[in-house]
Amino acid sequence: MADKQTIFIVEDEQNILKLVSLHLKKANFDIKEFSKAEDFLNSMREQLPSAVILDLMLPDADGLEICKYLKNSSEYRDIPVIILTAKSEETDRIVGLELGADDYISKPFSPRELVARVKTVLRRYQYPAKNNDTETIGKIMTINTNRHEVIVKGETINLTTTEFNILKILLSKKGWVFTRENLLTQLWQGEKAVIDRTIDVHVKNLRKKLGEAGKFIVNVRGIGYKIEE
Ligand code: CA
Repeated sequence: MADKQTIFIVEDEQNILKLVSLHLKKANFDIKEFSKAEDFLNSMREQLPSAVILDLMLPDADGLEICKYLKNSSEYRDIPVIILTAKSEETDRIVGLELGADDYISKPFSPRELVARVKTVLRRYQYPAKNNDTETIGKIMTINTNRHEVIVKGETINLTTTEFNILKILLSKKGWVFTRENLLTQLWQGEKAVIDRTIDVHVKNLRKKLGEAGKFIVNVRGIGYKIEE
């Protein structure tokens, strides 16, 4: 079994801190609790958590500023942040999401909702882009995930964001079969309105644009797609 994932919780209200902590421990996460922004930021320098749950009203800092700082930092950007807000703080919630927070939980929350939101956010980050990576497939296709660039036989291919993201997800685990559902979850965060076949349409377009390199995207009948050289 994989190592337990560590979640950092930053919340000055002790009863809420303990409650969040308790439910996530029950869901088999390792937890570190912080009541002050300063302690939290110090700890981040020593260990990177799998996700952060961040209260917005802290005694020594504004949670929104912390969120902004994390999401603008090349080192911390890829750590999912879930903000904790009171129901009345709707503006903060929106600003938080605009600053790059990955989700929010309104106080009071149900334990089930809390755990579900944390798991959903973690799933979204399960296949992160490799750092700085340029990958070459079958000697004719080069993909730079940071620059969003795909080159086939020396020619730059213009892909839509969705097409590029499909390629990036497939590349994150070469040879691994991604189900349509899995791709949908990562691309649209499980929005119910999007149907399975949408993926097929995007993959079809992607393959066509890639020309000769399109053959590297293999349809595994009845399951989904993978990259194969
Ligand atoms: Ca607070």
